[in-house]
Amino acid sequence: MCTTPEPMPLPFSWAEQERHLVSHLSALIRLDTSNPPGHEIAVARHLSRELSRVGVAHTVLEAEPGRANLVARLPGSGQEPPLMLLGHADVVGARPDQWSRPPFSGEVADGRVWGRGALDMKGQIAASLLVVQLLAAHRVPLRRDLLLVVTADEEAGSRLGAHWLWENHRALVEAEFAFNEGGGQRFLTPGGPVYTVQVAEKGSARMRITARGRGGHASVPRSDAAVFTLAEALLRLRAFAPRSVLHPTARRMLDMLADLHPGTGAEAIGRLLKAPTWEAANSLPIDPVLREFVVTGLHDTATPTLLSAGQRQNVVPVEASVVLDGRLLPGRLPEDWVAEVREAVGDRVEVSLLHGRESHAVHDDPRLLRVLGDTVAAHEPGARVLPYVNPAATDARAFPETKVVGFFPSASDADVMRLIHAPDEHARITDLMFGGACLLDAVLRLST
Ligand SMILES: [Zn+2]
Repeated sequence: MCTTPEPMPLPFSWAEQERHLVSHLSALIRLDTSNPPGHEIAVARHLSRELSRVGVAHTVLEAEPGRANLVARLPGSGQEPPLMLLGHADVVGARPDQWSRPPFSGEVADGRVWGRGALDMKGQIAASLLVVQLLAAHRVPLRRDLLLVVTADEEAGSRLGAHWLWENHRALVEAEFAFNEGGGQRFLTPGGPVYTVQVAEKGSARMRITARGRGGHASVPRSDAAVFTLAEALLRLRAFAPRSVLHPTARRMLDMLADLHPGTGAEAIGRLLKAPTWEAANSLPIDPVLREFVVTGLHDTATPTLLSAGQRQNVVPVEASVVLDGRLLPGRLPEDWVAEVREAVGDRVEVSLLHGRESHAVHDDPRLLRVLGDTVAAHEPGARVLPYVNPAATDARAFPETKVVGFFPSASDADVMRLIHAPDEHARITDLMFGGACLLDAVLRLST
């Protein structure tokens, strides 16, 4: 029941590519690009060699020495604007003592490729590279240029990567659509399998709560100490139920989820749609990870992260503070969320905005979503895509004129995502092959 044209038959078989995909990913993991310091040039050079083998034109652009971005272009006929395969080369650090295998070994064992970056996101880069290599080697005619853009510095805010590329080399990275990280988690619901597709990501409002009080010698207890005042504010924050905002993307996600959960699930979702509240969202009888997407998709959030107070064990500190990592729904302003948090925690503390950024545009182009839906259905009968707002940030926000979606479907259920940024990160080879097959298929549906 496809609504978009079937992809053309290919002169090669994806199923025979497993060896290449695994060796690409192993090689990428072995290049330690922990950020800081990043040193993404190692990945850029490796990709450069791989692209040269099939004659794909590319350029390596360093924002700072060693902080390299790579842009490759496989030319199409130009009938349509380019399509971008986007990935970031840097990874978060890893402490070898917490791992059961060395984090930068790229070891292949138990049907998995092990190492930092296997999921976030060298697996998707390995698959994107292989897609470009195959299309180039077999001279598959394309209606649009296919770009491979691999950035630096995503894990530290993208300043030397995606943002720098957009500001300094815009013409090289202009595209109509892009496939990025942030999507592809699989959930098996009562109504069938769904794969998430990131169509937007939340903005941020980092803030600080500061409490002040009388200092003095710690031998004399004080109920008005800054630490107690801060603790009370945090308890109020924990009990705070932020107001629900039913953004169109969230509404569509809930409509789909109701469809996928006949019976009590659909009834609870129906009530939530009529009267959305924090409590109703948090008690939906659906998969807990999907429920988190509903909760974060309907609310601005503020999570305490860095606490600080005191310099000495025997001195009552005059000041105590906590940093809140705040995340904003599309259309919401950082200042407004800070004002609501201020009201929630009370006037005995001060709340200040440290850094704010609005959410970037929602990219729920119907044609694109149809293509992605047909793609997953072709690889798993009955599967659908579930557009959602990613509560976290990716490189997507750096490309304001491109419809960037998170799309790299994983055949395993969503719990593998818990390994992202965690010890023993690894990717199952079946997931990599599935994601790559879907990526190739979607590229062909959009470009041939
Ligand atoms: Zn990532």
